[in-house]
Amino acid sequence: MEVKPIRKPDATKVRANLPDDSAERHRLGWDVARSWLDGLTGGGLNIGYEAVDRHVVHGHGNREAIRWIGKNGTVRSFSYANLKEATDRFASLLEKLGHTKGVHVFTLLGRTPELYITALGTLKAGGMFCPLYSAFGPEPVRARMEIGAANVLVTTAADYAKKVQPWRAEIPSLRHVILVDLPPPDISETLDFAKACADVSGDFKIVRTKPDDMALLHFTSGTTGKPKGAMHVHEAVVAHNATGRLVLDLQPDDVFWCTADPGWVTGTSYGIIAPLTNGVTMIVDEAEFDAERWYATLAREKVSVWYTAPTAIRLLMKAGDDLARRHDLSRLRFMASVGEPLNAEAVIWSARVFGKPFHDNWWQTETGGIMIANTAAMDVKPGSMGKPLPGVEAAIVDTSCDHIVPIEAPMKVGHLALKAGWPSMFRGYLHEDARYAACFRDGWYLTGDLAMRDEDGYFWFVGRADDVIKSAGHLIGPFEVESALMEHPAVAEAAVIGLPDERAGEIVKAYVTLKQGQEPSEALRKELLGHARKRLGAAIAPRQIEIRTDLPRTRSGKIMRRLLKARELGLPEGDLSTLEQAA
Ligand code: AMP
Repeated sequence: MEVKPIRKPDATKVRANLPDDSAERHRLGWDVARSWLDGLTGGGLNIGYEAVDRHVVHGHGNREAIRWIGKNGTVRSFSYANLKEATDRFASLLEKLGHTKGVHVFTLLGRTPELYITALGTLKAGGMFCPLYSAFGPEPVRARMEIGAANVLVTTAADYAKKVQPWRAEIPSLRHVILVDLPPPDISETLDFAKACADVSGDFKIVRTKPDDMALLHFTSGTTGKPKGAMHVHEAVVAHNATGRLVLDLQPDDVFWCTADPGWVTGTSYGIIAPLTNGVTMIVDEAEFDAERWYATLAREKVSVWYTAPTAIRLLMKAGDDLARRHDLSRLRFMASVGEPLNAEAVIWSARVFGKPFHDNWWQTETGGIMIANTAAMDVKPGSMGKPLPGVEAAIVDTSCDHIVPIEAPMKVGHLALKAGWPSMFRGYLHEDARYAACFRDGWYLTGDLAMRDEDGYFWFVGRADDVIKSAGHLIGPFEVESALMEHPAVAEAAVIGLPDERAGEIVKAYVTLKQGQEPSEALRKELLGHARKRLGAAIAPRQIEIRTDLPRTRSGKIMRRLLKARELGLPEGDLSTLEQAA
């Protein structure tokens, strides 16, 4: 499909924080981005200071920082001054409990205010913060707390009793468990969050952290075996802040909603740090996805910048255009997406329904922040991830030789690599030095993704290197096939894998789910096979299509192709701790 770029009006091109101007892109770099932050008086850098205290120091303490919406609709609002006091109290509590710089603080919480207070308070105390997704069962919680040598855990009484108490004694590093709701009388070895924070000072002197001090630990799931703990340092805030400004186009009056849970890196980098360092008001919705609730939230809270993920966008598409049109979304100024490839179809749909497109951007747990993006002023090429940000050197490379060889020719598939050294680059996998070292070659970080770059410098995602299919001499990226299937009006989502085949090496198999009102049938299945063959040609089109009611995905919304493949071939399913549902 030849997709036309979505052109931006001239006014947007000039007014956006990152104008569409190559001279400006050239001028901006990490040194300029560093100058946008205060740093600590007397030297040092601390994420908690930049996100919270700085705004109070600069006289913006009354500005609303967090507007929290509970599952039942209760609203709690925190100004930057409120947030400073609450996070100072948590930091003081850590100090009172005898914890010093470098303490490992974990949360096992839903999106409650205490989660945000713990994160920022820990950073101010010089600790390392590690959020765990609240729906993890006991085993994933234990594995992560063991690898991460947790010292403090903040959680609920129910999760503690069910997921931690049975093995607590086996993790000697764990000294304190703090419960955010009242503990039942038999849980005497815990502290009460509210009471403990009320008993300590609301004025804390931030621990002097250096840019290279550990700040965040994010677990990313390997395909098999143990999860990897990607370590990030305080300097990452330079990238969080800059990308919030340049990519999400955050401006002082914005109401920003990042729908990701802080259990995943997006929910921390962009659900906590980037909006707060940019001094905007951020929405936190405690509830899970619901199309009606989401549209109502966008309208009622007057959200102006919205950052979400392809899975959610596809679910909104599935729910139908009418639902979107029933709400006043006129305040929405900028919409962005991350986490998975955003099919051209979804970008075109959003431009039609919202009057503006979703802007896709690309990054990973390991990169800590957005690296490649469609920014507000750029013309959007639907289906493309956009261009590398100022300061980011990205290349398509050939890794088959002794040294990395950049591929200059446009639209040639290769490994997506980044020149090492950006501020939010991960600084290691906890206890796995060899695995970390293996990610780098000749000064380049190899992302594990395959991509192409076009003649205008836009990058196009092909697939995870592990997911790419080799069929009769062709290299097939699942994204291309999935996107073609999604162009069919009956298809809501698609996932494509390669199956071993004696003659072709591999053949393509596709799984699809259908839009609302569509019924699965043999006739439809055949129609889809025909549609794909017409669009892609016989060499690339799936040989098999299976219609399903759902696809297995991670809790962060990524379709788990490797699991579809393992199940199809009867292979070991690997680490399933991040699986959202038994699809
Ligand atoms: P994670 O570290 O779990 O956030 O996963 C990062 C991976 O998600 C990347 O390496 C890509 O494979 C995929 N990903 C993230 N954003 C995009 C995007 N905009 N387009 C395509 N794939 C993406």
